[in-house]
Amino acid sequence: MNPKLTSPLTQLSGIGPKTIAKLHQANLYTVSDLLQYYPYRYDDYSQHYTIKQLKTVGLNFHIELKLQDFQQKQLWPRRFTYIKANFSDGQNILPIIWFNNPYIAKKLKKQNTYIILGTTSYDKYRNLNLVNPIIFSKDEIDKSPLIVPVYSAIGSLNSQWFQRQTKKIISLAAACLEFLPSDIIKKLNLIPYSQALYNIHYPPNNQELQKAIYRLSFNEIFLLQLQSLSLKNEQVQLRAQPVKYNLEKFKKIISNLPFTLTAWQKKAIWDIINDLGQDKPMSRLLEGDVGTGKTVIAALAQYIVFQNGYQSVFIAPTEILAQQHFTKIIQYLSSVKKISIGLLTRSKSEIYHQAKIKNISKDTLKKYLKSGKINLLIATHAVWQPDIQFKNLNLVIIDEQHRFGVDQRNNLSIRQSVFFPHVLTMTATPIPRSLALTILGHLAISTLKSPPGQRLPIITKIVTPQTLNSTYQFIHQQIKQGYQIYFICPLINESPKLQTKSAIEEYQHLKKNIFPQYSIGLLHGQLKSQEKKSIMDKFYQGKISILVSTSVIEVGIDVANATVIFISGAERFGLASLHQLRGRVGRGRAQSYCFLSTDKPNPKTVKRLQTLVQSNDGFYIAEADLKLRGPGELTGLRQSGLPDLKMASLSNQELIKKSFSLAQELISQNPELKKYPLLKEKLKNSNNFMS
Ligand code: ADP
Ligand code: MG
Repeated sequence: MNPKLTSPLTQLSGIGPKTIAKLHQANLYTVSDLLQYYPYRYDDYSQHYTIKQLKTVGLNFHIELKLQDFQQKQLWPRRFTYIKANFSDGQNILPIIWFNNPYIAKKLKKQNTYIILGTTSYDKYRNLNLVNPIIFSKDEIDKSPLIVPVYSAIGSLNSQWFQRQTKKIISLAAACLEFLPSDIIKKLNLIPYSQALYNIHYPPNNQELQKAIYRLSFNEIFLLQLQSLSLKNEQVQLRAQPVKYNLEKFKKIISNLPFTLTAWQKKAIWDIINDLGQDKPMSRLLEGDVGTGKTVIAALAQYIVFQNGYQSVFIAPTEILAQQHFTKIIQYLSSVKKISIGLLTRSKSEIYHQAKIKNISKDTLKKYLKSGKINLLIATHAVWQPDIQFKNLNLVIIDEQHRFGVDQRNNLSIRQSVFFPHVLTMTATPIPRSLALTILGHLAISTLKSPPGQRLPIITKIVTPQTLNSTYQFIHQQIKQGYQIYFICPLINESPKLQTKSAIEEYQHLKKNIFPQYSIGLLHGQLKSQEKKSIMDKFYQGKISILVSTSVIEVGIDVANATVIFISGAERFGLASLHQLRGRVGRGRAQSYCFLSTDKPNPKTVKRLQTLVQSNDGFYIAEADLKLRGPGELTGLRQSGLPDLKMASLSNQELIKKSFSLAQELISQNPELKKYPLLKEKLKNSNNFMS
């Protein structure tokens, strides 16, 4: 039976259960999925040379040669096969070697002519040679591409495996129907979808390849934009209860804050007040680097909602942060009479009322929420349990939200009859405009562009094995002056257990060999929350000089006396994460330092890390990060909740802008896309990252 686009991959010949399992893990289920598994780069052998012209190393080329002679050897004991052949172009001889490619010998016949695709290299005597090139006999050449796709391997399924499979199904590309409106295709001069799919796997030449990449990049960006714009459309239809504010009272609260608001904070709170006054729910993102003062904005928004007799909840990603927010919000709103503020985490339930904090049972807290006796709740995600009910929840604030696209309202069992609460999301990740236009079209954005006060910019340095000792010396000096230090252990993605282990080792090493005279604390994911809290408290109180932590260290922690952050294995982190981590320091008046330590200071790593040395501007870093990633290198972004972009199209700003205006136009004329059933279908099935 011939496979169809919708056929499961099991129907392809030679694919067994183990292979299927690997493919499923990579989200490849159908023939169509496999067809959309695009190469991440190409080896272009379209240049033609004669043997004489092959003078430099690293040239990709194809060449037509006649086989003179060859010999095949088996090298024991490791079952190593080795073919050595001499080819001629009529004038010169080129020796070629194949290791472990025994089937090539079957192809070789003296005096036959072959097309060979390869890359020049040196042998150990610095003579040019050719190792493991691709070889076609003359009658195969029509089928052989000169631009060879390279696919990312999935476990043992390597690029060649994908090349073979793609060959079996490529004819089905023709069956992929065009789903874009024809005027968009015309406007951007796009090639048909089916042709793009074909050419992305089998590019006849570089020009056609570029057209295919452009078309598929457009697909990706355009679909995401449509998705987020239709989400916005849906939101417009939702109803919310508007919240009015009383200027006099509000001014009084602001004048009672322990500081004056920055201009950015004022602008942000003004945006929020405006949104809250509407009868449709607010959907706003507040972005601001660590330390720009987002928490007080949350407090003020919650205050206004309280003034109107409604409840609000402020959700933090971790218990430690929830605790910190609780303390701060109480401080910021200490001049508000009759307010009750609750704290709810896995291990804690407390209430603040009339200048006192009391422990209460979870059940009591639930009762108070339901009766409205608690006005503001600070919580972790523990709050999304069906047995937690509010009396009249009208504002949800989510701190450090990483899954940007997710519409929180889906998450919340908080719909209040016909009304939806207002939602404010806060993030410390600076979002480049290109991203905002792609996946955040449904959100309004406020930005805190600079931190309060005049802080000194953090000094960032790259630490190599050579400079490690002098860096430790420097840290000694800082501790002697009474400052505190963060040590961040390498990121180990695969396993939290390994990460804990490496943190424990680092901790013991520092304690025993480097800083024996100081008190050191250790924080990792495997600790109980009580233990974590006690270590954090000690760090806050200055009883611990050095805090060793895994990278799971809670974002947003605020210790102004910490002046140094030392990050081990810095090359393993994304630039945006490094920048976030760096924001732990530089919060007080003293000069702060960030040390990016790497054992592998190769040029590529150093160049990437230099971005941080050069700049303290989160936006600059985020943009640079996007640009430094090539196609297929966006996986790091996925962790931060971004969609899985196959074409790396985010670096094409031009395309993003064009596509955005086309998407807006289309949605405004055709809110439900009724005229474009294929497009609608595609949207439903594509990368459903919003839901
Ligand atoms: P973020 O959550 O954006 O990282 P926080 O809200 O934790 O930042 O604020 C960081 C620190 O700055 C806190 O100690 C806070 O009290 C202080 N802060 C906030 N706004 C101001 C301001 N306008 N002036 C001075 N200090 C401020
Ligand atoms: Mg914060």
